[in-house]
Amino acid sequence: MILLKSPSEIVKMRAANRIVAELLDAFVPMIKAGVNTLELDEYATKYITQRGGRPAFKGYTVSGLPPFPAAICASVNEGIVHGIPSAKTILEDGDIIGIDVGVELDGYFGDGARTYGVGSISQAAQKLLDVTKTALQLGIEAAQPNARVGDISHAIQSYVRSQGFYCADNLTGHGIGRALHEDPQIPNIGQAGRGPRLKAGMTIAIEPMVNIGTNRVKERGWEFFTADGSLSAHFEHTIHISASGPEILTVAGENQ
Ligand code: MG
Repeated sequence: MILLKSPSEIVKMRAANRIVAELLDAFVPMIKAGVNTLELDEYATKYITQRGGRPAFKGYTVSGLPPFPAAICASVNEGIVHGIPSAKTILEDGDIIGIDVGVELDGYFGDGARTYGVGSISQAAQKLLDVTKTALQLGIEAAQPNARVGDISHAIQSYVRSQGFYCADNLTGHGIGRALHEDPQIPNIGQAGRGPRLKAGMTIAIEPMVNIGTNRVKERGWEFFTADGSLSAHFEHTIHISASGPEILTVAGENQ
């Protein structure tokens, strides 16, 4: 069931998502060679808690896996999503790292992700980041009231393929609001004009996961990797579909 949000619920979602965006900004100067991903996770837990929120990923359960152990997902290089932070995962110059953050504040959820370069990265890696970010932007622009979910999927997929890259199989965006994951799913691969109709008051997380070499994925517990070991990037915004068009909620600063 797709839950529409009232204006007062949207206010709460802005507040939860603002914490996500500000934390993703705060990581920028921290992402350096020599830093391990557990340090980033510890910083995130402290940051979210000090802002009155709860790290929404910590303890998250899906059937068949232990509860997710961390506040952030940290996915390095061929890691696509759901990477588990570890003191053993030490960033090196030229790496890329996707960080995904979820926050619950006052009963409402925020979710966002960004992929960062560590030091100087290859041209191919930079192109991957640029393409994935643009794919997210195009997906957001397609999220107009009365459009359909497939319009978002098509905008993302057709642009990514036009750039020679691939959307990762079986990994999708989602509705969000009173729960971290609500209906509908927002696939990154799909046909325009298909799927549920988008309505004013819907809140969704759009999140292209883009691989350089293949759409195929391999799983190890929580963690997803590209099947061919090529690089993968992930950018995500939570948005509100307002009567006048999409509003990005994962933005820093006063956005009331
Ligand atoms: Mg998400």
